[in-house]
Amino acid sequence: MKLLKLFLVVFLQIYSTSATPSVLIVGAGPAGIAAATRLLSNGHTNVRLLEAENRVGGRVDSVFFGEAYVDLGAESCHGTKDNAVYELVKDFDVLRHTETPTKIYHSSRRTIDEEFSQELVEIIASIYSPDGHRDEVEGKSVGQYCMDKFNSTIFERYQERPEKLEVAKSSTELFHHIVLGFEGAFSWFEPSAKNDYTECDGDLELNWNGFGYKTVLEALTRKFPNPSDQLPFDQTVLLNKEVVKVLWNESSSQNSVMVICSDHSSFTADHLIWTPSIGVLKERHQKIFVPRLPKEKREAIKEIGFGAVMKVAMYFKRRWWTPETNFTGFHFIWSDHDANLLRKEFPEGPLKEGRSWLTELFSVVPAPNNPHVLVAWLTGDMIPEIESMANDTMIQGLEFALKKFLGHEYNITKPDAIIRTYWHTNAHFRGSYSFQTVQARKNKITAEVELAVPLLNKDGRPIVQFAGEASHPYFYSTVHGAIETGYREADRLINLYK
Ligand SMILES: Cc1cc2nc3c(=O)[nH]c(=O)nc-3n(C[C@H](O)[C@H](O)[C@H](O)COP(=O)(O)OP(=O)(O)OC[C@H]3O[C@@H](n4cnc5c(N)ncnc54)[C@H](O)[C@@H]3O)c2cc1C
Repeated sequence: MKLLKLFLVVFLQIYSTSATPSVLIVGAGPAGIAAATRLLSNGHTNVRLLEAENRVGGRVDSVFFGEAYVDLGAESCHGTKDNAVYELVKDFDVLRHTETPTKIYHSSRRTIDEEFSQELVEIIASIYSPDGHRDEVEGKSVGQYCMDKFNSTIFERYQERPEKLEVAKSSTELFHHIVLGFEGAFSWFEPSAKNDYTECDGDLELNWNGFGYKTVLEALTRKFPNPSDQLPFDQTVLLNKEVVKVLWNESSSQNSVMVICSDHSSFTADHLIWTPSIGVLKERHQKIFVPRLPKEKREAIKEIGFGAVMKVAMYFKRRWWTPETNFTGFHFIWSDHDANLLRKEFPEGPLKEGRSWLTELFSVVPAPNNPHVLVAWLTGDMIPEIESMANDTMIQGLEFALKKFLGHEYNITKPDAIIRTYWHTNAHFRGSYSFQTVQARKNKITAEVELAVPLLNKDGRPIVQFAGEASHPYFYSTVHGAIETGYREADRLINLYK
């Protein structure tokens, strides 16, 4: 009897190994990690993750700086209801609410009192939210929509108070930069005002209290909260494996895909899940996929929007700002006059059409639970050039701008150290997060939905599947969206082999 049992166990093990397909996952960001861990926890052990960088996480990049982790990529969990990120960590008391800045400073140092600052921020928030279910504006850009509404609102409200009207007018660029922070575009005339993005209910700005967004990736692999529960995830990942070719064979049903990496190594599998950003696809899909991708997919890749935002975390040994518990940071408005003067006052660094790179700086906020670190936010069409600046020039420029806006109230010092982002420059990302353009909405199914359609073999089985934030129909641009797409593609295989 014992012998029979042993035979049965060995038989089942052999049978189950041969019954699980081989799966290659390209990219170990949230989507890739979600797909891998979902497969692993459903008995699919023949999984390999190929990651081009020397770390996992993708656009989740938590770096220890100052006295805690700073997030160079994703930093907020947006909402709590039906949010995959929140679901993974809700029992562990790690998330904290983030207050957004309400205090606006003007480059001329004219006083914008607390109440007026608050009013302007509220006007902006009442006109724009990334959730763009605005039927009346199909075909319009976010920029057109916001400018029209903003101009009429401030005119109506401040027409009898010319001083306020002038400040409100010059806050249009601040509004533009805030919108770009949400959309990730280079200009607010790129994203569509009507879009499918959907906000989860609940607190939309939750931070990781200095423990970093990486916590959610550790929750996916089950390293968090208890490292001894970790799935065999580390063993499935190969770092520094940049996939340069995906050869997919429609006429085969086994080992139908082969990838070649930049170090000339190659791998074959029954299925491949592709997760790199839409920026990577835009730049290289023609070189990577053999045979080339179908026309609908190529068009979708072209139509989905992608730009970049930039963050610079600044460490100050001596904290010059007020250590109040309710300190939420600063927003900045450049007057046209001061923006023009910048070319002379701080001529170093990139210029575009006469505009200094410093006009892309619009906000400085405290890093969560990190008392000596402030994070500068820059958005706009100069980000690619700003990313190529030398650190020294950037530090001098930031010190200059901080003194310009705040020097009359604070004894500003130079940052003692900075760390900064290169999302656009890095060939493994080429940007920060996707947005929906007017073009992406022109067909019955949107470009995001089209991107998610798998490439099938002659038997109708998926060979190459597409995950990643840009392939989510309504949570694109987010970590919770990326995780759902990883689950989606893993489940496609789990169901196929049930
Ligand atoms: C500055 C910034 C702020 C953000 N803020 C937020 C936020 O507050 N909240 C939020 O929800 N989201 C935010 N996001 C967006 C969020 O980070 C992304 O939506 C999410 O990380 C995307 O995950 P992904 O797995 O789809 O792609 P990625 O994270 O890009 O993962 C793809 C992986 O593929 C790898 N790769 C690329 N090319 C190759 C190749 N040829 N071969 C092998 N591997 C390759 C990459 O190195 C990467 O690791 C932010 C992003 C940025 C950049």
